[in-house]
Amino acid sequence: MTSTRTAPRGATGAVALHGVTKVYGQGEHAVLALDGVSLDVAPGEFVCLVGASGCGKSTLLNLVAGLDRPTGGRIGLGEAHPGLMFQEPALFPWLTVEANVEVPLKLRGLPRDERKARIAELLRTVHLADFGRRRPHQLSGGMRQRVALARTLALDTPVLLMDEPFGALDAMTRDILHDELERIWSERRLTVLFVTHNVREAARLADRIVLLSSRPGRIIWSTRVEVPRPRRIDSPEIATIAAEVTDRLRTEVGRHGQ
Ligand code: ADP
Ligand code: MG
Repeated sequence: MTSTRTAPRGATGAVALHGVTKVYGQGEHAVLALDGVSLDVAPGEFVCLVGASGCGKSTLLNLVAGLDRPTGGRIGLGEAHPGLMFQEPALFPWLTVEANVEVPLKLRGLPRDERKARIAELLRTVHLADFGRRRPHQLSGGMRQRVALARTLALDTPVLLMDEPFGALDAMTRDILHDELERIWSERRLTVLFVTHNVREAARLADRIVLLSSRPGRIIWSTRVEVPRPRRIDSPEIATIAAEVTDRLRTEVGRHGQ
């Protein structure tokens, strides 16, 4: 099997996966984590990838991010180098909020004045304008994830890959961050591939929900979420969609006898 990360011919997606397979390990210890996953995420689309624990969601995201290579198939990203966000904000604890956000700006070689202006703008975007001089341990979990989001946005990339970024937050904080992510996504016309096992979160955020089967991960179902934005996670429309996704997931997990 061959694998490349160049754009598949004819693909128009901001993120395009074609027949992507991932095997961990070799011989009798080999684990087939993903099996022939094809997915096109349109520019500006918000796609939520949902599936049971261990079904290969993080594997898929890591492959798109280029952190690991597929065993087979093709992954295309156009010219974009995606921004990544995980459940853990992974901030530098010894740096202030400003200095954390400055890291990608420095790496991009922006001059000092421009960096200062960009930091101020990014901290306003995530509603942390007054917290630039704090250090991560002085912030709540939600605020730390906002810093992580600002740092990712500092890459100025059109594609965001998010792996359960709000999974460790309480429901109220998560609710607020959903609103903010939705606003930033729409203002900046970002393409988002968002992994979660939380079906309500997926229904709240997604233009399209894609369901992965239990291992090996295969795409088994997808649905468009037509509920107008802004949305509320506790609205009846979102609850109905979440219930349908849960039913599909239950059937899938039941089929595997887990
Ligand atoms: P998810 O994010 O959906 O919970 P993962 O992508 O983390 O699932 O894992 C998918 C499967 O691949 C799991 O069975 C996991 O144990 C296995 N796996 C993940 N990473 C590795 C690795 N580096 N080596 C071997 N197996 C792995
Ligand atoms: Mg995972």
